[in-house]
Amino acid sequence: MAETNERPLNFIEKIIEDDLKEGRVPGGEIVTRFPPEPNGYLHIGHIKSICLNFSLAQKYGGRCHLRLDDTNPAKEENEYIDAIKEDIRWLGFDWGKHEYYASDYYDRLYEIAVRLIKEGKAYVDSLSAEEMKEYRGTLTTAGKNSPDRDRSIEENLRLFEEMRQGKHPEGSYTLRAKIDMSSPNINMRDPALYRIKFAHHPRTGDKWCIYPMYDFTHPISDAIEGITHSICTLEFEDHRPAYDWATSIDGIEHTPHQYEFARLNINYLLMSKRKLLYLVNNNFVSGWDDPRMPTIAGIRRRGYSPEAMKDFVNRVGVAKVEGVVDYALMEFCVREDLNKRAKRLMAVLDPVEVVIDNYPDDEVEYFEAGNNPEDPESGTHQIAFSKHIYIEREDFMENPVKGYHRLYVGNEIRLKYAYYITATGFEKDDDGNITLIHAEYDPLSRGGEAPDGRKVKGTSHWVSKEHSIKAEVRQYDKLFKAENPGEATGNYLDDLNPDSLIILDNARIEEEGEKASAGEYLQFIRNGYYCVDSKDSRPDHMVFNRTCTLKDSWAKQKAKMGL
Ligand code: ATP
Ligand code: MG
Repeated sequence: MAETNERPLNFIEKIIEDDLKEGRVPGGEIVTRFPPEPNGYLHIGHIKSICLNFSLAQKYGGRCHLRLDDTNPAKEENEYIDAIKEDIRWLGFDWGKHEYYASDYYDRLYEIAVRLIKEGKAYVDSLSAEEMKEYRGTLTTAGKNSPDRDRSIEENLRLFEEMRQGKHPEGSYTLRAKIDMSSPNINMRDPALYRIKFAHHPRTGDKWCIYPMYDFTHPISDAIEGITHSICTLEFEDHRPAYDWATSIDGIEHTPHQYEFARLNINYLLMSKRKLLYLVNNNFVSGWDDPRMPTIAGIRRRGYSPEAMKDFVNRVGVAKVEGVVDYALMEFCVREDLNKRAKRLMAVLDPVEVVIDNYPDDEVEYFEAGNNPEDPESGTHQIAFSKHIYIEREDFMENPVKGYHRLYVGNEIRLKYAYYITATGFEKDDDGNITLIHAEYDPLSRGGEAPDGRKVKGTSHWVSKEHSIKAEVRQYDKLFKAENPGEATGNYLDDLNPDSLIILDNARIEEEGEKASAGEYLQFIRNGYYCVDSKDSRPDHMVFNRTCTLKDSWAKQKAKMGL
């Protein structure tokens, strides 16, 4: 954390410190807001915006509002609003009583629109969407005035009132600001302020059938709430003149300012709510909180911690230039964090049984295992050992290849925490699968070291057959196998990774695993970081999700393939 305090100021902090110094901040209180549109779940990109807005408020002793930008009634759902709040809280931020909705301002916005009409600064236009586009002009050619631009104030007032009363169908009229059809900035060519939409709104019900547009609603909402620094992503840079136009309408008592920063893009991930919704609706994933989704709900269920994600966005920093951040950096932050906090357990994901023939039949011994070697305070727990154990199938080879140091007939290995064992034989079923490995242990090697000092090259994890629980383990990997999903064919679905979820339904976890609960961070020794699935795990059928591997197997795999 010391690092973050010592890092140089980002450009927004510089602006804020300047504004404070020059007395440009009313009352000296910095007010920011996070303004999600409730049309989907929040994703990792939003974490950057959330951290930025809430941290600035914290750092400068101000406040950050949560504003639900609910101006698009057809797409909104209360489920999204609840999820948004849960996700922000999970990140550790609190908006206190400052929970607002753009729809709170509908009356005020309507009143401002009427005043603009009365002042001759807005008009009702009957151009169709098509025509409006044509009249708007292009980046290189000026637009031209709509024939309705000079409609009388009286007629504009009457038509706008009729629009409000529901007397006109959708698309028949819009209310537009009268600014400048030849402005070099297309957003200033008489932008639409209101459109007709017959939709039930989750908060205002059927009160309205006209809804204000983003470029009108957003700046005025900021002004009403006393936002001092309105921070958004770069794609809104071209909208800044419209923002400044709206906040300088007569009678608006406070003038906020908009600042743009580069959005967070990460390779292998899609971060567009529209595309994520498509994946959900078409069952490419199990829901918005599928552990493969780049949503906050997804990564939480996958076992990422808020601290790791905050560390990640801190490292990425706040800039003015767009770039793509490497997925590996995010996983690096996740691993760093989990290494410090994850409780170590032994789990055998693909078990094969080993019988230790010279071990007494009914004997059970307990070994002490550290919960986390990185954290001396984390304590220890007991692991039961007995004659019948499981090891990973890949930790035994019938015909060992050169350089294989794990178990094979005649070879001695260490069972972590316990004893040295030497394989003496094995049994197979009719299909040629190994069903049982015979071994002998050296009683003198108790604790995992031989008194004569002889060394073994392999150490395997294991669980006792009678003292382990059967569990389902979900091996998650990246949802997309291409760095830039859709780049090759134009369709991101072509880049879905067919191996993004592999279910192992016969895994065995040491008994201590039974105590694990959702939200706890675990490491299965040698296998990776895991967590209890918050949705599907039950006491009689535990389900564990792989959060990430211990090392970046993806990079290794790519290197092997020569990519
Ligand atoms: P999407 O394109 O995924 O639908 P959005 O920008 O439409 O996202 P909003 O709900 O409007 O989503 O975003 C709320 C806030 O989060 C906005 O201020 C927006 O600029 C910011 N934001 C969205 N995506 C990112 C991102 N990838 N990186 C940083 N900030 C983001
Ligand atoms: Mg949006």
